[in-house]
Amino acid sequence: MRQHDKCGLLLTWTKTCELLKKRLHQATFEQWFGSIVPVRLDGEQIVLGVSDDFFADWLKENFGDILTDALSESSGQKFSFTLETGHVNVDEIKESAEIDAEAEAASPAEDFSKNRTNSNGSARHTFANFVVGEENRYAYAAAKTAADTPGVYNPLYIYGGTGIGKTHLLQAVANQVLERNSRAVVKYVTCEEFLNNYVDSLRNKRHSEFRSSVRKLDVILVDDVHMLANKTQLQEEFFNTFNSLYNENKQIILTSDKQPCEIIGLEDRLVSRFESGVTTEISAPVFETRLAILRMMQEGHIIKIEDEVLVFLANRISSSVRRLKGALLRLVAFASAMSNRRITIEDAESLLHKVIEEESASKIISIYSIQKAVADHFDIRVNDILSEKRPKNIAEPRMVAMYLCRKMTNHSFPEIGAAFGKNHATIMNANKKIPELCERNESMKRSLSLIQRQLQQS
Ligand code: ADP
Ligand code: MG
Repeated sequence: MRQHDKCGLLLTWTKTCELLKKRLHQATFEQWFGSIVPVRLDGEQIVLGVSDDFFADWLKENFGDILTDALSESSGQKFSFTLETGHVNVDEIKESAEIDAEAEAASPAEDFSKNRTNSNGSARHTFANFVVGEENRYAYAAAKTAADTPGVYNPLYIYGGTGIGKTHLLQAVANQVLERNSRAVVKYVTCEEFLNNYVDSLRNKRHSEFRSSVRKLDVILVDDVHMLANKTQLQEEFFNTFNSLYNENKQIILTSDKQPCEIIGLEDRLVSRFESGVTTEISAPVFETRLAILRMMQEGHIIKIEDEVLVFLANRISSSVRRLKGALLRLVAFASAMSNRRITIEDAESLLHKVIEEESASKIISIYSIQKAVADHFDIRVNDILSEKRPKNIAEPRMVAMYLCRKMTNHSFPEIGAAFGKNHATIMNANKKIPELCERNESMKRSLSLIQRQLQQS
């Protein structure tokens, strides 16, 4: 962007914010406009950066008119706005720039550690604001040990569903390591960013620089390594990176939505590397954890939601912490837009009816309903599925049922094993075999998707 345009952009945005401040409650302004990043001017339109779709929708719906008016007034002509998601707010940028600057000071001028678009994560994700419950206790303790005594649990591999705190823990490690030693070279990176950096380095013929910068790291935190699946060349690079850091006893922490052996298309040598240290699962949060998280979030908010509403949310939303937090934020936003109105359970029910419906739909899928649906589909009995019988017409449906239980419920391998009278290894085996079978067998693939749809609709 040219300097002139940049000045115009900042001027327009600053003036607009001044107008908005006069017209809105301070808390409302802070909540909705404080984190917006002015991106660029596009003719008679300003492009504003916001964090995500939820934020963008809400802003458009509730503050669209006010914002357009203020923009037009401050620029003296008819002016509109568009929103671009994926922007972190200014404080976060400042925080991460500080962290990056520290990392850079210790490790000058290389591509990988200089990368600013990704940071070492948000300084807001710490161990202190991570609520510990039975489902994440072990992962929390392991991450803390890795941060305090790097190299002891190596690699540490944390897996589990989405929105349950994996990224939070990784970033907590990054923050804690830097707090203990500001000269430590710590890198938080998503697997996708690792891929992008690697590809860029090949394109720019800076591959050896990329390599040496990665190898200078003291701690590497790679988020979502299931993304390595089926990317042969990247796996090769990752394997080499892993080995060189591991051999120097540098701490490696990986997260994924699956266990290493469950990642289809991940080379055996990586599976065995990933499994060679400590592997720990985080499962969906229990009620007590969910409520504790909501109560903790209240501490940081100016607008308080009553405890009975929090209990209602914790009861109704159980699949992911991200959803739970989103739900609370939505209520806070509503209260704020309504001049701090008191929020009742009825408000919560109507504002969040979509999320709540989705949650209850995902809950009724029990292990038994899966066994029943599979048995019906293949025209056998549930008792056959639970028996020791081995003919193919029973053994395959049994594996299908096991696979679907893992896929469609939040139960762990041992829990599913118990429900089938088998051990967890049998379930893990089914979980690996069925996708392979589907690749070879079109009719099995169709059966599977049919059963899933039936279960989702029932
Ligand atoms: P994942 O990486 O597993 O998909 P995240 O780590 O991004 O999930 O978590 C989603 C959101 O929920 C984040 O805002 C995170 O801070 C929050 N969160 C998850 N678990 C906890 C917890 N135990 N205590 C506090 N916040 C949590
Ligand atoms: Mg994550």
